[in-house]
Parts: sequence; structure tokens; C-alpha cells
Amino acid sequence: MPHPLTQLQVRTVRKPARAPVHEITADVCIVGAGVAGTSAAIESAKLGRDVVLVDSLPVLGGQMVNSLIGLFCGVFGNAPDYRQLTHGIFDEIFADLGPTGDLHFNRGHTMTVQYDEVVLGRWIEERIRKLGIRVVLGAVIQQVEVYDGRVESVSFASRYGNLSVRATGFVDSTGDAALAWEAGLPCRIPERTIYGSQQIILEHLDETHKPEATELAARVDEKAAEYGLMRHDGLAFFFPGRNTAVMNMTHIEAPLDPVEASDAQLEGKAQADRVVRFLRTEYPKAFGEAKVRAYGFPGRRQTRWLAASHQLTLDEVRTGHRFDDSVARTAWPIELHDRPEGYVWELFEAEHVHYVPLRSMLPPDVHNLVAAGRCVDGDAAALSSIRVMGPCAAMGAGAAHALDLAGKESVHDVRPGDLHDRLAANLD
Ligand SMILES: Cc1cc2nc3c(=O)[nH]c(=O)nc-3n(C[C@H](O)[C@H](O)[C@H](O)COP(=O)(O)OP(=O)(O)OC[C@H]3O[C@@H](n4cnc5c(N)ncnc54)[C@H](O)[C@@H]3O)c2cc1C
Repeated sequence: MPHPLTQLQVRTVRKPARAPVHEITADVCIVGAGVAGTSAAIESAKLGRDVVLVDSLPVLGGQMVNSLIGLFCGVFGNAPDYRQLTHGIFDEIFADLGPTGDLHFNRGHTMTVQYDEVVLGRWIEERIRKLGIRVVLGAVIQQVEVYDGRVESVSFASRYGNLSVRATGFVDSTGDAALAWEAGLPCRIPERTIYGSQQIILEHLDETHKPEATELAARVDEKAAEYGLMRHDGLAFFFPGRNTAVMNMTHIEAPLDPVEASDAQLEGKAQADRVVRFLRTEYPKAFGEAKVRAYGFPGRRQTRWLAASHQLTLDEVRTGHRFDDSVARTAWPIELHDRPEGYVWELFEAEHVHYVPLRSMLPPDVHNLVAAGRCVDGDAAALSSIRVMGPCAAMGAGAAHALDLAGKESVHDVRPGDLHDRLAANLD
């Protein structure tokens, strides 16, 4: 009589010489599950499309969740009216996370919204699951097949083997325009570094003693050399009532080379640790007991983006130029992190809004690919405003509708009026 524990048989296997590639077919394939890709996926699924959402991380939510950004910016207009400029996914998030105390609305020059990133991460996972969206996680683009001006299929390498996705339409919401890049399409890179940041969440703080924002920035400026801090400013977002805060106080390079990118990641954490030492020493009442609850995945602001049919310009942003094919709007300032010690910050007036046209999301010679999020086309300053999460989500929704309207035809031929009718809530 064999022992019951040995009745569970095991067998020996070996990789076949020609391992079959897992093939998926869908109406829409969205690569990149950050705020732009998530919004595109939800909107496409609501339009009845069969959607596949792929990401190289093993989790959904992109930087919004995994880089611990913690604050929705660019969703609302400026004071005093604080008009909500983007709806869609934000209406759902506000309705679900507001009553549970996992959001906090801050009123200042504009209105921003703090969120609990763990709760939001689970919300996204459940929303995607309930809508029947297929997800493939931990899968990195390997190759893109383009034929006759259309992306035919994208192949991915994953820890569980290779797969290929064939779809009628594709969205590049990778943040680094990775799909466009692998397809051999023209992309843009900045001539000098635009810095990212290593975000951290601190716990065991005493928010009753938190320093004023201006006081904190002045102290960092004064003591940066002493503590080895690259940035001479810094932002602390205390979540009211929880004695935790998201700290945005580092500047790290965001290379596209795999080895350099990994080095930058470790340097970012070392910088963050120096920030913690500074805070504990300089503000013992507020930060004396501070512990790092989490280090975010590297935060990347502007790395590589699409060279589209139209490059949004700083002038179009400053004048609030409205395009016939606008898909997104925001009032967020210019926020260009192009220097190690700080960033350019240019505010707009009360009524100001600026727009993102569909043509800044379309590669000129491809008919079924739309970029969305921080890898759409703008000059460095214009992009520094429209890359925040409000307009990124609106662009995701715009991409979903543009592909839906195009069907099997060219997304370049979508009639602006039809697109506007679909997106009116985010434009008027
Ligand atoms: C430090 C920092 C602080 C910020 N602060 C704020 C803030 O307070 N408020 C605000 O609104 N915005 C803020 N931003 C900007 C904002 O967070 C991002 O611009 C926005 O989240 C971008 O969303 P996205 O969907 O375009 O891209 P991402 O969130 O970058 O998502 C892209 C996804 O694509 C995946 N991907 C990339 N390459 C591949 C590939 N080759 N194959 C498969 N998948 C791939 C990635 O894994 C990732 O999940 C901040 C940004 C940074 C870096």
C-alpha cells in the first residue's frame, strides 16, 4: 500500500523544440495598464468591444498605483469654480472610493485628489474583471508586425512563455511609446534629462506638526548639500487622519537603456533614504518616528514619446487652443522637471483650459494605432502639463472611442464631429 502522500504522481517534462506560441485575438489590444490604458480598456469594454489589456508589470495600475503617485492632478479646473474637466473613470472612482474615506479633495489654485493606492489598485482589478476584460500581466513587447499601414499583431515575452495578440485596433499606453518604438515608428526623446522621482510612503508620522509646504521647500534648499539631496525642493502629501504621507522629494534619471535604468532605480532608493534621514533630523516632531512603508516602482515622467501627426506646442497650451479633433483637456500648469534641483512651474488663470487633439496621438502612417497617456506628442513643455493623470485618462477614453468609430477603416478618417459627440462630457 503506497503512502497516501506519494499517490500524487509527478511527471518529467521538457520544453518542446518548437514551443507553440499562445495566440489571442481581440477587437482592441491595449498595451500598458496605467491610468491611460485602464481608462481605454474600461471605455472599450463598455462599448461592447472584446479587449485584451497587457502590461509588463505583474499588476495593473501602472504608475498611478505602483509608483505611489497618490494624487490625481489635472482632473479639475482652477479656482474658484473647480470645474470637473474629465469624467469617465474618475466619476466611478469618486463614487466608490469617496464614501469609504479613501479620497481627499484639496482645494488650492486648482483641485487635486489624494487616494489610497492600495484601495485604488484593488478597485481597478475588480472593475477590469467585472467588465470581462482579458488581462495578460508580466508580458513585455518583443515584436510588432505592421503590414500595409496597420499593426497586425504584437508578440510578447512573459515568464510563462511567449504570446501573440492579433487585433483590429491597438493602443500604445506604455508611457515610453514602446509599441510604436518596436514597430519602427518615429519617436521623440528629450535632448537633456527630464527627471523622474522615487516616491515613498512614510508611516508613523505626526501630522499635527507637519511643516508648511513653503517651509519644507526652503529647508531642503538650505540643507540639500549637507544631506546629499539632489532636489532643492520637495513635496509631502499627508493623507489626513492617517499619519502617513507620500513624499515626492527625489530626482532620478529615467534612461531607456536596461542596465542604466536598473542603476537609476537603485540610486533612486538611496536618494530616498537620504530624504528620510533629512526629515527625521530636521523635523523630529513630525517625522522623528518615520518608517518607509513602501518604495514605489521608479516614477518616470517624460522618456520617449510618439512623433505623431501633430506635435502639441507650448503656445497651443498657453493660448488654450481648441482643436476640431480635441479629445482631452486640462488646466494643469507646465511642470517640467528638466533640472536636477527643481522644475519649471507655470500656472494658468482661473478660466484657462488647454486641449489634446487626436492627431497628437496618431502615428502619421499607421491606421489602427492610437497612443494615449504620457507618450503622446508634444514639445517637452507642452507634454509636461498634459502627462498628469486627468488628461491621461481622458486620452485613454478618446483612444477607445476613436478606434471604435474607425472599426476596420483608418483612425485618421474618424470624423471630428462624431468623436466630439462621444466625448462631450470631457470637452464642453
Ligand atoms: C514621480 C512622479 C510624480 C507624479 N506626480 C503626479 C501627481 O501628483 N498627479 C498626477 O496626476 N500625475 C503625476 N505624475 C504623472 C503621472 O503619474 C503619469 O504621467 C501618468 O501616471 C502616466 O500614465 P500612463 O498611463 O500614461 O503611463 P504609466 O502609468 O507609465 O503606464 C505605462 C504602463 O506600460 C507598461 N509598459 C511599459 N513598457 C512596456 C512594454 N515594453 N511592454 C509591456 N508593457 C509596458 C508599464 O509597465 C506601465 O504599467 C507624476 C509622475 C511621476 C513620475
